[in-house]
Amino acid sequence: MLFGRRPPYPTASERAHRHLTDWRNISEQKALLAPQSNAQCHRRYRTRGPSAAPDVHGTSSSPSPGPRRLHPREDLVPGETLNKVPLALGMTARVYGYLLEHTREPQVLRQLREATAAVSGAHMQVTPEQGALLGLLVELIGARKVVEVGVFTGYSSCAMAMALPPDGQLVALDRDERPLELARRFWKLAGVTDKVELRVGPALDSLEQLLERDGPGSYDMAFIDADKRSYDQYYEFLLKLVRPGGLIAIDNTLFYGRVVEPEASDKAAIALHQLNVKLLEDQRVSVSMVPIGDGMTLCRRR
Ligand code: SAH
Ligand code: CA
Repeated sequence: MLFGRRPPYPTASERAHRHLTDWRNISEQKALLAPQSNAQCHRRYRTRGPSAAPDVHGTSSSPSPGPRRLHPREDLVPGETLNKVPLALGMTARVYGYLLEHTREPQVLRQLREATAAVSGAHMQVTPEQGALLGLLVELIGARKVVEVGVFTGYSSCAMAMALPPDGQLVALDRDERPLELARRFWKLAGVTDKVELRVGPALDSLEQLLERDGPGSYDMAFIDADKRSYDQYYEFLLKLVRPGGLIAIDNTLFYGRVVEPEASDKAAIALHQLNVKLLEDQRVSVSMVPIGDGMTLCRRR
């Protein structure tokens, strides 16, 4: 299983506890978040080599000191954004319910969500509002060619393929045949079967094959949602595959909040944190970390 034995999300009481401790131990927070602690922070995760420990100070690419990745935020009020709006990730059920009721979810996607509910790992599926955003992004950048890394039962691939023009193409990568049965069924129901090319196997192998077959810059958009520990490698591949001006969307970048202070054994959270640090300074892309779903980072290749 992708997340091992540990449940992928904190329980309500863990969340409440974290919330309290996060804001009570403000000096610890500072130690964790202070600019000068970046190096210690990386050392703490026992990173190896330059690719494992991103150059957050940008010394190799940019000589200017520039702002650091995080600041001690004494100006923050628990549960609020800088503008005093309730934090998206702490959204109440009522407001989230309102958001869902005002989110367009095509019937076929609703049915796919219901069919997936019984499948082990259903929590991995993107949320309806994420599906709507992904579809909108496909339209906005006029994508014709999309690659998805991590298909599962097909919700995000359907959402994107449905937004593609009739001659658009979505290459869908996953290594696990089991959930793909549902994906195939729903691609058919959604009328997108002809737009989808499925490649079953380890995603890194498939990406290498795609780069060889289609060449650099041949995709308009990519969605990363497979093995969290391999995200950085997917990202590097996709920076080659996606054209300048194209989009790489990366899911789960807040990883249930576990990126804030990952436990040493939480390899997935550590990998995501390291990627977040790297993206902050990565001048090859323009970036926006969107607090939708479990956090979705949007990168436009420059
Ligand atoms: N985007 C999907 C959810 C993907 S869940 C949705 O919205 O419904 C993650 C998927 O990544 C799983 O189906 C898993 O089989 C796949 N995966 C994990 N590691 C992989 C790897 N190394 N290569 C290919 N697929 C992988
Ligand atoms: Ca996901």
